[in-house]
Amino acid sequence: MFNIVLFGPPGAGKGTQALKLVEMYNLIHLSTGDILRAEMKRNSPLGQKVKSLIEKGELVPDEIVIELIRENLSNNKDAAGFIFDGFPRTIEQAKSLDEMLSRESLDIALMLTLEVEEEELISRILLRGQNSGRADDSNPDIIKNRIKVYNEQTAPVAEYYKKQGKHASIDNMGTIENTFDQLKAHVDNWQ
Ligand code: UDP
Ligand code: MG
Repeated sequence: MFNIVLFGPPGAGKGTQALKLVEMYNLIHLSTGDILRAEMKRNSPLGQKVKSLIEKGELVPDEIVIELIRENLSNNKDAAGFIFDGFPRTIEQAKSLDEMLSRESLDIALMLTLEVEEEELISRILLRGQNSGRADDSNPDIIKNRIKVYNEQTAPVAEYYKKQGKHASIDNMGTIENTFDQLKAHVDNWQ
């Protein structure tokens, strides 16, 4: 299995690039944000539990997202690999992911971070909010809080993978195609 963590702040383009990588490399896209939003949509007990946190731009507790990942990994044992998008968001989550994978003699091959300037992030998220129906994409204060939470709690996760020699940064101020070409180069180089 070939497993990638696609990393970067909210609005950096992870979802867009993940879909393109899935197509090219036949991987399974695991976006904890998408899974949690689906739970909110069908108003499940889990959806109800996380709704207020997500609408404020705060993190859902580690145990909840780790359990979601555990279920998805065990339901996809034949996968060629996974793209983790929006997870791990804390060092604790990164350690749990390593433990879960190593129990199956698997690991993360690469963490690829999409870099976008903060002003550009905010305008891309507000643009997405016009159509996404996401409350957390429409309010500048909530968007700023999401970026703050990212800088404080999530950005340190890159160090965790840097220490393992698995990290690379990709500039995503340019076009979708150019960024995808850079991501592809990293993946192809690795294999
Ligand atoms: N969220 C979380 N943990 C996750 C995934 C999502 O806490 O593993 C919550 C958090 O409140 C976040 C929101 O869901 O602000 C949206 O996450 P998503 O990854 O979809 O947003 P993105 O960063 O891609 O814009
Ligand atoms: Mg996303």
